Amino acid sequence: MDFLHTQLNNIQRHLAFVAVDPIDWKFYVQSFSWAVTLFESYLLIRQYPLYSKKEPPAALAKHFDAGVFEKSQNYGKDKAKFAFFSGIFKQLLDSLLLHYGFYAWSWTAAGKLITKAGYGPEYEILQSIAFVFILFILSSLPTLPLQAYGTFVLEEKHGFNKTTPRIFVTDILKGWGIAFVLGAPFLAAFLYIFQWAGDRFVPWLMAFMISFQLIMVILYPTVIQPLFNKLSPLPEGDLRNRIENLAGKLKFPLKHLYEIDGSKRSSHSNAYFFGLPWSKHIVIFDTLIQQSKPEEVEAVLAHELGHWYYLHPTKMLAISQFHIFTILALFPAFLHAPPLLRSFDFPKAVAAKPPTLVAFLLFQMILTPIETVVSTAMNAVSRKFEWEADRFALELHEMVKEDSMKDMGERLSKALIQLHVKNLSTVWVDWMYSAYHHSHPTLTERLKALESYKSTKEKKAL
Ligand SMILES: [Zn+2]
Repeated sequence: MDFLHTQLNNIQRHLAFVAVDPIDWKFYVQSFSWAVTLFESYLLIRQYPLYSKKEPPAALAKHFDAGVFEKSQNYGKDKAKFAFFSGIFKQLLDSLLLHYGFYAWSWTAAGKLITKAGYGPEYEILQSIAFVFILFILSSLPTLPLQAYGTFVLEEKHGFNKTTPRIFVTDILKGWGIAFVLGAPFLAAFLYIFQWAGDRFVPWLMAFMISFQLIMVILYPTVIQPLFNKLSPLPEGDLRNRIENLAGKLKFPLKHLYEIDGSKRSSHSNAYFFGLPWSKHIVIFDTLIQQSKPEEVEAVLAHELGHWYYLHPTKMLAISQFHIFTILALFPAFLHAPPLLRSFDFPKAVAAKPPTLVAFLLFQMILTPIETVVSTAMNAVSRKFEWEADRFALELHEMVKEDSMKDMGERLSKALIQLHVKNLSTVWVDWMYSAYHHSHPTLTERLKALESYKSTKEKKAL
């Protein structure tokens, strides 16, 4: 532990200037957040003309009839326009809030609020919770119309929306309720650890975050998800037998097999698994079951189990822990830095002894450009995992010695095509746009890879 703290102290020494130099952080955050937004707009401008192509890529030509292809192009066009304008709108809003000292104003407002309730500024944790509450409500209100437009105009126009205004409103309220019920104690504990551990908070906070994530793995399926969707056990039959057989052969610790009423809100479809290492749940969207044959859904699950077999979720978790660790290791330099708060218009009295949460929030804003790079890198890792999982499904028959699974590659291709056709997913993709935004390879790329894995196999067999 001492070695860790020596290293962490070294980092602080290098960053010591943050606590004394009057750097114009606000200008820096404004410039970089605009740079990110403009770059994202540029990517949309690169991608946009591809929605005017009249023919699908050759590899997909036989699967898309002309009508469906045109529909998917129109859907893509509308989504791109929406993303372009909502991106600029959100950035403009953030930029104005930043310019007019909204964060400093919210901190003062939170202070007044708790004073009314009989608590003074010495109750920093309480004031921090009130601060987040004010920020959260005030900054999410202006984006509600965008969300409503996305659901009731855009998705509606292309035939995906199943959300009623009632579900829309209750979803938002439930979301806010959960954010408050879980968020407030989380935040309180998070800030308490800073108070209690002082500048040796890094290992304690890491331990706390990991425990919180594990608790969420248990709470999410049992408490949170049922608030939004109905999960019912997958009925007995061909599909259930196939999946149980597959799980059994791979020794996948399948505890529950659910069908989820995803169709309540949207016709988009999917399947996923989650849970603790010894007890996993598989969830399949009712829409996927309706769209594809049981043997094709089985192939989708074979792909999902590939993620499990190669420990992809665990690897992702490890990467994200490392990421959190790096952020926490850099943070102390920004924690005791009055000039940082001053540059965001905080009054001198507050800046003199920076509240932990305020410092953390401003620090997060400063990290934005780095975070953009990190998320692009994470997408690259995720795409690599997708290739591996596809290949796993294709070669599964060798591993479990089951000849009836030899056509898993074709079945997976069929299911993927079906998913794309039904979801009207974009088929022409600009490489730069894709590298930045996509956590999955494009359909064309995946089909080509499945083909080439297969043909190299066949060559070897000859
Ligand atoms: Zn996958």
